[in-house]
Amino acid sequence: MTENIKKVKINEEKCIGCGACSIYAPEAFDLDPEKGKAVVKEGAENTDEEKIKEAAQYCPVQAIEIEQ
Ligand code: SF4
Repeated sequence: MTENIKKVKINEEKCIGCGACSIYAPEAFDLDPEKGKAVVKEGAENTDEEKIKEAAQYCPVQAIEIEQ
């Protein structure tokens, strides 16, 4: 049994705005064109946990922080 994700955060200091997370988990992440950084969408915690974990795994700078 897997635990649900409680919180997802983007570490803006690390994020380079590559957009990978919004491709792997478009329900959870978006790119803010003004900031050039990823943002967590509302309700991200309720989207597919595996996708969020995949996005975190493929983030080139480990900027996605998951709290479980
Ligand atoms: S994958 Fe990582 S570096 Fe790329 S936009 Fe998402 S959080 Fe930022």
